[in-house]
Amino acid sequence: MPRDRFDREIDYLRISLTDRCNLRCIYCMPETGTAHAEPSDALGCDEIERIVVAAAGIGFRKVRLTGGEPTLRPDLLEIVERIARVPGIDDVAMTTNGILLPGLATALRRAGLRRVNVHLDSLDPERVARVMRRGTLERILAGIEAAERAGFHPVKVNTVVVAGENDGDVVDLARLTVERDWHVRFIELMPLGGGECARIATTRYVSNFGTRARIEAALGPLEPVASSHPSDEARNFRLAGARGVVGFISPVSEPFCGTCNRMRLTSDGRFHLCLLKDDEQDVIGALRQGADAARLGEILRNAVLAKPTGHALDVGVSTTVRSMHHLGG
Ligand code: SAM
Ligand code: SF4
Repeated sequence: MPRDRFDREIDYLRISLTDRCNLRCIYCMPETGTAHAEPSDALGCDEIERIVVAAAGIGFRKVRLTGGEPTLRPDLLEIVERIARVPGIDDVAMTTNGILLPGLATALRRAGLRRVNVHLDSLDPERVARVMRRGTLERILAGIEAAERAGFHPVKVNTVVVAGENDGDVVDLARLTVERDWHVRFIELMPLGGGECARIATTRYVSNFGTRARIEAALGPLEPVASSHPSDEARNFRLAGARGVVGFISPVSEPFCGTCNRMRLTSDGRFHLCLLKDDEQDVIGALRQGADAARLGEILRNAVLAKPTGHALDVGVSTTVRSMHHLGG
């Protein structure tokens, strides 16, 4: 398993399959005017498979597909199928807004996808329309239900908390875990890309200390639950008698850089070394010049060795070039 300069084991590759999305969450993508990579600049299914084979060859074990919205890729099922059978890869997961899951969930499961995280910011239809824009609560819930029917258990629900928008909805979302085995995870806003979305992320930030206090005031104490893996970015809890889990992902108030085990691959073929920094290393050039698995493995190993640690959000520094819809969280 590759180790970086800070002795972190890096075995988790997050692949952004596209920078496009069918929604426009206010903290992630502007309503209009986003320039997208040309489809010819996006990694193809063969190229993604070659990178995953190389990654598995140097000890990567887990892959997550993200975006933009990964379900917009017409070749998604083939990508999942090919990655899931790469020897050494024992977990293939996906993060999605759920809108297209009703038509895809069963086939994705069959193709070898093991887990899905669905993004949902509120249980109020108007607030979903305002915060996630272009999406409806009904369609996202239908996506979650389709995932459950297809056998994805437990479904993880990701909620980004935005002051003045959905910060009052966290109690209802947490309450879902009483009856359902879902993991509902509250994510702190991060500013990426320097534009309007970054401004919203900075000015509408809500600390998870506040979110947790609000939930406990309404629903009672949250008891800690052991994480399944030391690099799990969520701190997990359970309400008394609940089937599911309430998680807090707190990159701003409680950074978890010390246990980071990730490498990110952008849809235009760059290894992005830290979510909250600009450092990248090109791999698409080598792929298109015919690099073999050994060479690709060497490029990835060098990217791992160059991984920085410690973000600088507290002094207002984050990515300037990439936004969240390029990097996939
Ligand atoms: N479209 C998919 C989705 O929404 O789940 C996958 C890509 S999206 C960029 C991945 C995750 O990033 C989502 O769970 C979303 O909640 C989270 N996210 C997006 N923008 C964010 C921001 N500015 N700060 C924190 N999390 C963010
Ligand atoms: Fe799309 Fe996901 Fe970004 Fe929302 S968070 S705009 S669903 S990529």
